Amino acid sequence: MPGPDKLEQARACELREFPLPELEVDSALLRVELSEVCGTDVHLRDGRLTGVPYPIIPGHVSVGTLERIRGTICDVNGRPFAEGDRVTFLDVHLTCHSCWYCLVAKASTRCPKRKVYGITYGIADGLTGGWAEYIYLKPGVRCIGMDGIASDLYMAGGCSLPTSLHAVERADVQFGDTVLVLGSGPVGLSAIAFSMLRGAGRVLCIGAPDERLTYACRMGADDVFNFTEHTLTVRSDWVLQRTDGRGADVTIECTGSPAAVTEAMRFTRDGGRVVVVGQYTDHGVTSFNPHLDLNRKHLDIRGCWGSDYSHFHRAVDMLRNPRAAALWSTLKLERYALTKVNEALAAVESGRTIKALVVPTR
Ligand SMILES: [Zn+2]
Ligand SMILES: [Zn+2]
Repeated sequence: MPGPDKLEQARACELREFPLPELEVDSALLRVELSEVCGTDVHLRDGRLTGVPYPIIPGHVSVGTLERIRGTICDVNGRPFAEGDRVTFLDVHLTCHSCWYCLVAKASTRCPKRKVYGITYGIADGLTGGWAEYIYLKPGVRCIGMDGIASDLYMAGGCSLPTSLHAVERADVQFGDTVLVLGSGPVGLSAIAFSMLRGAGRVLCIGAPDERLTYACRMGADDVFNFTEHTLTVRSDWVLQRTDGRGADVTIECTGSPAAVTEAMRFTRDGGRVVVVGQYTDHGVTSFNPHLDLNRKHLDIRGCWGSDYSHFHRAVDMLRNPRAAALWSTLKLERYALTKVNEALAAVESGRTIKALVVPTR
């Protein structure tokens, strides 16, 4: 991905060849089996994220085989990996665990030192993205063995797994809660499943298009509504009718539309919780009434930025549970060769595809 500064190239990826890296001590070379194309990649293509060191190799969540290891790489249980092991890895690297955000605020996803494969690492940093035959796993990259989890199943969730698990944790979903999920993209779909698995009494979803809402039902939504076909008033009535006139206990915003944040506030009951996870890029402003929408409602609104190792680890572990695996295995996958990633980006942007994967093998 060359970067949006070159306008004629801004909307296109190109194939490039690179030599394989010299491995540092305690690093590895991962042969990529599958990577993915997500909404963030569309924003990267369009230059909508700050701090991106173009040119980059996109693809921040991937699965593959450890082809070469120099030194030792262990999992969190201290078990060393061997060449030939199938693994995935946390795309976030270099969280310092020694800065003010890490140690005092305990908000390590705001650590200024952190780098993310496929997003804030660029070609200058080496083979640091998944849309490639190989990824260089630098010293300190955290891997998880994929024993018992099919690569397809894991990538059906992909980057939406830790993101939505983090959002559902932030939402503090209680047994029996009515959870409203705004948005039916990958993060919304995974948020539906995690909310249900966490004990929600009922999960509602407002999204689009209809095909995605069908998948929302498969992921555990009890009732769905297409926002493109109904006015704000009708959508609000739809929520109130299902919540004894109060609104949802918890609303998780996964849309990317600033207006949806205000709607999330209005669709949530007094004293309820709103988690905003869908505003990963700057889509502009929205307005709300501080008295009516926030203060008088005694609302608890929480932002949710990125994910840390715990979200990644728990999300992978959940897929070892057959009930959870059954949910994500319903999602439709579309596969694209490295030569077709621009088409994959267009498909993701259009909302036509549920999950687009990159298959780098020649
Ligand atoms: Zn830090
Ligand atoms: Zn992503």
